[in-house]
Amino acid sequence: MVEETAGLAMEERKYVRLPTFLERGFSDLNREVVSKRICCLCGTCAAFCDKIKIGDSKSEEAPEFSEDYDTVCGLCYTLCPRTSLPLPELERRIFGAVQEDVLGVYRNCYAVKSKKSDITGQDGGTVSALLAYALEEGVLDCAAITAADDQWRPKTKVATNGADLKAGAGTKYTLYPSVIGVRDAIEEGHTAIGFVGLPCQIQGLRKVQMSEQPYDVGIDKLKLVIGLFCMENFREELLDYIAEKYTKLENVSKCDIKGKDFSVYAKEKHSIPLVDIKDYVGDGCSICMDFTAELADISVGSVGSEEGWSTVFVRSEKGE
Ligand SMILES: Cc1cc2nc3c(=O)[nH]c(=O)nc-3n(C[C@H](O)[C@H](O)[C@H](O)COP(=O)(O)OP(=O)(O)OC[C@H]3O[C@@H](n4cnc5c(N)ncnc54)[C@H](O)[C@@H]3O)c2cc1C
Repeated sequence: MVEETAGLAMEERKYVRLPTFLERGFSDLNREVVSKRICCLCGTCAAFCDKIKIGDSKSEEAPEFSEDYDTVCGLCYTLCPRTSLPLPELERRIFGAVQEDVLGVYRNCYAVKSKKSDITGQDGGTVSALLAYALEEGVLDCAAITAADDQWRPKTKVATNGADLKAGAGTKYTLYPSVIGVRDAIEEGHTAIGFVGLPCQIQGLRKVQMSEQPYDVGIDKLKLVIGLFCMENFREELLDYIAEKYTKLENVSKCDIKGKDFSVYAKEKHSIPLVDIKDYVGDGCSICMDFTAELADISVGSVGSEEGWSTVFVRSEKGE
């Protein structure tokens, strides 16, 4: 698809259809994505098909299909970011432009730090402050974020106020199907939804947002997408490894990656060489080429700015 659309004139490009796979079902997705271990666990399939569940097993978290269902409708296969990713066409629809360099389409790039003293974020607290502003100004009526329990296990949270955002701030280095939070927000009746997520999660969500009939599942309620930079993510078993070898998880206040170390901040700081935990990296991360969340309205990360600041790419008019 990428090659197919790249050479077309702008007017023609406007009408390129996104690929749809009417005759593929979950068994195809299972064979071509899950079994090949390239599933990124974004949660898009499970969020938009109630027959698909994400398992609880820590080592094999992967989508599963309920056995009472054998219809092939093509939805999960079509929406999965690993079956096809027509990047230029998605960019044209979202930004009205196609990327010219490796950082994706963007209008401006900033170093940012939140002035909201009550929000301690991962880096500049930028993501939480932006969402707090959007809620205060009525741009959004909720944000689907990824919070965590006291054992650092991620959980979706439909945040509607500053306290929710504050509680959900900070990076969780654990694979988790965060896109399900968007479904939760729709089910709760929200009509101006924001989403924060990783590049792969945003790829899935954008495919949903841009899809055409018969897969237009109607998420026009999604109003703002904030992406996090991501080099790699880890299976939940990493948490057990940290608990076993380093510290109780309830004592951990923050984790981050700087240079060659994964650091865990508890009563003391534990620096774990990344090479020691490479086996916990999600299999699906190995084929990902999107470090800066190129399909987000605004992308935020730490690299490129001083400690305590965020690097921000504003990509869309909405983001600006
Ligand atoms: C797995 C992972 C890997 C990352 N790798 C890099 C990297 O290599 N280089 C780099 O520069 N930056 C990386 N980041 C981004 C960085 O850690 C910060 O999240 C980012 O700089 C935003 O900081 P902040 O202070 O503005 O965010 P905050 O104000 O602290 O808000 C963070 C937001 O991110 C959400 N969130 C946290 N964890 C997850 C998750 N697992 N999935 C979805 N949403 C989540 C929270 O709900 C919260 O809303 C990574 C983030 C994650 C989650």
